[in-house]
Amino acid sequence: MNVARRPLIAGNWKMNAGGQDACSLALGVVEAARRSARVDVVICPPFTALAAAAHELWESKSAVMLGAQNMHPEPAGAFTGEISAPMLKDSGATWVILGHSERRQIFGETDELIARKIAAAIRAELHPIACVGETLEEREAGKTLEVVERQTRAFLDELGKRPGFGVIAYEPVWAIGTGKVARPEDAQEVHAMIRGLCASLSEELAAATRILYGGSVKGDNAEGLLGQADVDGALVGGASLDAAGFGKIIDSAERLAEAAERG
Ligand code: PEP
Repeated sequence: MNVARRPLIAGNWKMNAGGQDACSLALGVVEAARRSARVDVVICPPFTALAAAAHELWESKSAVMLGAQNMHPEPAGAFTGEISAPMLKDSGATWVILGHSERRQIFGETDELIARKIAAAIRAELHPIACVGETLEEREAGKTLEVVERQTRAFLDELGKRPGFGVIAYEPVWAIGTGKVARPEDAQEVHAMIRGLCASLSEELAAATRILYGGSVKGDNAEGLLGQADVDGALVGGASLDAAGFGKIIDSAERLAEAAERG
């Protein structure tokens, strides 16, 4: 963690809590987040719960922010079943997860499509959380840095247009939803490479871009990961569905940020 960048903890609810349960989970996160002054918190419910969750956040005067999990790159048109960036803005979201490995693997999203989505999100004033990460096969073949570099380069120019507006999430696919978490030093190696790529575009981009780690982050392993120099937060799946567990991750970030502030 670097004191120059405010830590960000984002919860990806995936295809869970899409109705009334989204409101109670959102309120649970609001309460948990009240303990921390130094951490940005984002919750990403399914589309169907965005407006309701936005209402709860607004009513509770919370600093917790709202994000979506995907969007179409076009602003409007004949795309049955799709949701656009302006629609997400209208529903109260200010963030959007793009290029999640489940979108890449299950729905065949390409680097090129993800870059178009990121550009569209930024145009609509939505902060993109741009996800990258290698599969187990790629890691075992020693291709982790090569794969993550290719995925990152595909959208880097878009992030470079507004340094600090978007964030990058490094999520090794083999660690997502598996309970297998990357070792902090392995995560740091990839994060440092991503920051180096940002620096090749501009020092401003490297200094301002928050790079989150994602993949089986929980209350009891968050501190080791968040303590790495280039880890600026976490994208949390399973553990974000329990407000108390998610709160523990926020607490870890708060403790580390406070310690970093003290020097
Ligand atoms: C995710 O889906 O972004 C994720 C990190 O999931 P989990 O925390 O469950 O591994």
